Amino acid sequence: MTPQTRTSLKELQQLDQDIAQVRSAVQELEVLLEEIDAPVLRSERDVKGLQTRLQEVQLVEKRVELSIEERRVRSKKLEGRMEGVRNVREEAAVHAELEMVRRALENDEQEALSLLDQIRRIEERLEEQEAAYQEGLTEVEPRRVELTQERLDTEERLEELKEKRKTFAEGIDSKERRVYESIMAGSTEVAVSELMQDGACGNCFSVVPLQVQNEIRHATGMIRCEGCGVILTPESAEGIARAEVENERIMEALKTTEEEREAERAVVAEAIAAEAAEEAALAEEAALAEEAALAKEVAKTGLAAMLADEGAEPEPEAAPAEDVAESESEVAPVEEATESEPEATTADEAAESEASSGDEVPDEEAGV
Ligand SMILES: [Zn+2]
Repeated sequence: MTPQTRTSLKELQQLDQDIAQVRSAVQELEVLLEEIDAPVLRSERDVKGLQTRLQEVQLVEKRVELSIEERRVRSKKLEGRMEGVRNVREEAAVHAELEMVRRALENDEQEALSLLDQIRRIEERLEEQEAAYQEGLTEVEPRRVELTQERLDTEERLEELKEKRKTFAEGIDSKERRVYESIMAGSTEVAVSELMQDGACGNCFSVVPLQVQNEIRHATGMIRCEGCGVILTPESAEGIARAEVENERIMEALKTTEEEREAERAVVAEAIAAEAAEEAALAEEAALAEEAALAKEVAKTGLAAMLADEGAEPEPEAAPAEDVAESESEVAPVEEATESEPEATTADEAAESEASSGDEVPDEEAGV
């Protein structure tokens, strides 16, 4: 693969990528156009639906009008015949028919009225819908014109690019072009990629073996990446320059992060120191408070001891000795306490033994 072919393939790829981009721009514009047209189209459908309905109802109403006309004529005729009847039977027959026609006429007239009412309402709604439709149309028109123009321009650009690509592709060695096109035919947007400075594929970043790297750099064959299948070319001067810029940017970013981290660490250290100082101060305060409390306690205990020496022995101490005697002694009147106490105890014990024997009985029964 000559350097010329490499450049050509790369340029071809650039053209293909541009074409793909412009094509998707056209599609996006079409979607946008459909979106802005959608409400107007809906409104248009509503108007058309109402127009059809109106025509249908008007037709029905015409038919009823016609029927009314016929029945009026018939009723006139019958009225004429009424005058020329020769006997009662004939009169009755004509009268019956006349009655029937009159009733039908009445029905028709009712229906005509109801239909006319319906027509009036449909016309009103139609008028509203038409106004809404016109309004919607006017509203979206500028945007639609704009988008339509944009789509036309984009389509034109697409055609130009396709033409350019065609001419350009003709100048490339057909065998190599076929390889390129077979790669592009897959659902990929990249068919040619530069080797990176560290020897990785510029598309999939898998590392290319050293020997293969040498072949790519010095031999003329077409070599494809084992990882992703793209045609690999040596790094170009501009590719190297780009990589250097990128490296610099990364180093700069790293440095900035490092500096930021340093600053952060300093802030954290400061905070920790401040906290420690505060804690120390608090501890000191607490120690002082405790000391003071102790001193007070000592003074109090001394006082208490003096009081104890003077007065009788503290009563609470007597209670614990009798605690087995239970609280009953406290509740029961003092004079009865000695008598009732044993009784209560025996009663309790009896109840307890009864309860326990009562418990045992069902157990034994259950056992049997
Ligand atoms: Zn690759």
